[in-house]
Amino acid sequence: MEPEPAADSRMKILLVDDTPENLVSLEAALVGLGEDLVMAQSGREALRHLLNDDFAAVLLDVRMPEMDGFETAELIRSRPRSRQIPILFLTGYRNEEHLFRGYDLGAVDFLFKPIVPEVLRSKVAVFVELSRSNAKLRKQADALRKQAEDLHRVEQEVRRLNTSLEARVLERTEELVRSNEELQQFAYIASHDLREPLRTVSIYAQLLAKRYQGRLDGDADQFITFIVQNAERMETLVHDLLDFSRIDVRGMDFFARTSCDSALDDAVGNIRPLVAESGALITRDPLPCVMGDAVQLTRLFQNLLVNSIKYRSSDVPRILVSSRENAEEYLISVKDNGIGIDPQYAEKIFGIFRVLQPRDRSSGSGMGLAICRKIVTRHAGRIWVESALGQGATFYWTIPKKG
Ligand code: ADP
Repeated sequence: MEPEPAADSRMKILLVDDTPENLVSLEAALVGLGEDLVMAQSGREALRHLLNDDFAAVLLDVRMPEMDGFETAELIRSRPRSRQIPILFLTGYRNEEHLFRGYDLGAVDFLFKPIVPEVLRSKVAVFVELSRSNAKLRKQADALRKQAEDLHRVEQEVRRLNTSLEARVLERTEELVRSNEELQQFAYIASHDLREPLRTVSIYAQLLAKRYQGRLDGDADQFITFIVQNAERMETLVHDLLDFSRIDVRGMDFFARTSCDSALDDAVGNIRPLVAESGALITRDPLPCVMGDAVQLTRLFQNLLVNSIKYRSSDVPRILVSSRENAEEYLISVKDNGIGIDPQYAEKIFGIFRVLQPRDRSSGSGMGLAICRKIVTRHAGRIWVESALGQGATFYWTIPKKG
């Protein structure tokens, strides 16, 4: 490791001269810099200091007994810790040989005796400043290196988490697909197999009502009525559940270029009595041709229209069917002026058997919108409602342009 002085603290300067008076005058010249001045009276003593401390610069007298300045410089340069320290030689000789030897040993400058204090101070100040900037740069470089290392760790961790997340998502998706298929199968089998015994219960309950109405006591008559009503209700539920589970069973053979206008025509035709009885006014924009299952698109429009009429307010139902498009998909909307839906239920109503009205206000089983969602999803689209209580409701659904 290279010596690394602290960037913001005082820097150390090593003054080396065998004559104590010279050291005193060097100190006097440099004390104004506000740095730490360390003094040594021999090369050996200087090397001892350099072993333990980092210095911003060394001022080295050339002529010293035992080990002169050049020998000392050689040893300073040979040690890794002090290799980079700037050395300023202090000498009385101006001959060239002398200078070359000094520069060869890595001197950064020569100061000739008698030393001029201002010159000494300004030169040393430059080296101290350089050393301080150097320390700052090193500190920043270290911090950057550390950040890069930390990032690399973090990166590894993110990669690891991503991989395990992907694996988990895949696993969950497979599980969901499996359980969805099982559920689908269960719904189909249950509703299909339940129809028969249910039909029998219903027929016998009606028979009971026909034959024994008024011949048993009042309670018995009421019980029979309950049985008949509930058997009918259950038949509707089972029928709708079967319908729901059949949506995905229809193969892709039923997909073809389909006119949404015709699908809407058929839907309106199917519910003509309801439209007539309610006086509903249906307005419509031209609708697009899409790739889809015509029977199911008719069913989709039909369910939405029936709801718009069923959940009407005291006003005559007014329904607007329109269409917009962007580059990828068509957006079709069915807007009504009915009772509206509290936004907190905007998602719930698309669930199986979800109804918001008390039973007596709604004859439905709560499957209508679940069927709508299944149809739209099967066509790779989305369906949602925008509404507020008392403000009417607008149902939107999308369908991709290239099917
Ligand atoms: P159902 O009509 O058989 O009850 P749906 O699945 O078609 O079942 O609708 C679920 C619930 O959403 C309804 O019970 C009703 O409360 C609410 N709803 C659906 N369409 C509308 C609408 N156009 N306006 C107001 N509420 C609606």
